[in-house]
Amino acid sequence: MERSMRQTEFIIIGGGPGGYEVAAELAAAGRKVILIERDRLGGTCLNRGCIPTKCLCAAASALLLISTASQFGIDVGQVTPDYSRTAARSNSVIDQLRQGIETMLRDVEVIHGEATLKQDKIISVNGEDLTADHIIIATGSKPASLDIPGAALAITSDEFLSLTELPQRVAIIGGGVIGLEFASIISAFGREVTVIEYCKEILPPFDSEIAKRLRTMLSRRGIKFVTSARVTSIEQGLRINYEAKRGHDSIEADLAIMAVGRRPVIPSGAEEAGIELDSRGFIKVDELMQTSVSGIYAVGDVNGLCMLAHAAAAQARRAIGSDVNLDVIPSAVFTQPEAAMVGLTEDQAKAKDYDIMIGKASYASNGKALAMGEADGTIKIIFARESGFILGCHIIGPHASDLIAEVAALMFGMTTREELADELVHGHPTLSEIIPAAARNAR
Ligand code: NAD
Repeated sequence: MERSMRQTEFIIIGGGPGGYEVAAELAAAGRKVILIERDRLGGTCLNRGCIPTKCLCAAASALLLISTASQFGIDVGQVTPDYSRTAARSNSVIDQLRQGIETMLRDVEVIHGEATLKQDKIISVNGEDLTADHIIIATGSKPASLDIPGAALAITSDEFLSLTELPQRVAIIGGGVIGLEFASIISAFGREVTVIEYCKEILPPFDSEIAKRLRTMLSRRGIKFVTSARVTSIEQGLRINYEAKRGHDSIEADLAIMAVGRRPVIPSGAEEAGIELDSRGFIKVDELMQTSVSGIYAVGDVNGLCMLAHAAAAQARRAIGSDVNLDVIPSAVFTQPEAAMVGLTEDQAKAKDYDIMIGKASYASNGKALAMGEADGTIKIIFARESGFILGCHIIGPHASDLIAEVAALMFGMTTREELADELVHGHPTLSEIIPAAARNAR
């Protein structure tokens, strides 16, 4: 007997930020949308990524603030962090946000099940065949691991975020975004942390000057870094073996966390249905996020273009025809202090042969930063000398992730260095005053 086929306008596979935001937007505009999710709504960002990490960061920031309270003339007695309560708070924040997503999706048909792709744009789920004019794959990514002996002895970021207690000595393999955010949290709870990073500097995609400054600031908090070191094996116990410039070495730890990047989650049947993957295993897309099959799009981590929740949501809007600007995407590392960037690094701007001007301003010269006891930080803005346009901005210091949003807006609006320095008024006393200060200092 032939299976019946249900036709709709949009099918979205994956209920993370790449899927649910655009699903809600389309449904609000009266379009017929089916969203298929095999797990909980919210994706990695809500359930195993940004949100639980930020809840832990909030606790880490509170602990660090308490530890510096005496500068405000406040003596604090015994401080007793209880990690199990910190972790429980994350779960209640996640539940609250998930309810918000469910409300957002009230006009979307949400099917809980595993979607499989078939030929001719057919999606099979829970025994039913569906098809649509537009199909968006937003299936995300999962933690990658190293192909080394004993790799399974290390836990992934997913497992770290479900721990309810922290051991005393923690080794983190990978000094990228996830490794550093976890290092900063674990150290704030008074545990010993060592980060082992393969490259010569942590945070390889960030401006090297900012990455170095972050490493220095985190080292001052007691976090140990081993750079230019390739982890080669993990032994029971735990012993983490690595190869560094000076030869083989190792460290002992009670817990090892693997934070060496993420791999795409490709829905089953995708390749058989004609969807091409690139050499790294991500789904190949064109500028409109369309895959090698006409009418099937892939957005977010699964296409490997930019593994950030807001990039996934923006790419999904591109896939439904919006002319969203995908060139200006801010990013941040939620360490204590935060680091944030948008646009090109200094090295990238030079490699592209731009004639550049660099303007820097220190938090220490900002009235509000000093008053708030948040004076350790720097902003660096890279301008194109001739046009005055901002090519990139790099910030390290408190509230960097919020400050970068203004610079992203200035880049989007093509504000010049002269306009920023001389014409745009900033409130006083605010931390945002360091942005025009950097523009003035570029003179
Ligand atoms: P990453 O690519 O940012 O960092 C992985 C690090 O591991 C790199 O620095 C790499 O050099 C290092 N590494 C690789 N092999 C190694 C080895 N054998 N020994 C030691 N070090 C090794 O990956 P991630 O930190 O796992 O994050 C995954 C993705 O999730 C990233 O794309 C990131 O942007 C995204 N993410 C973003 C945020 C945020 O925006 N705040 C937070 C979490 C994750």
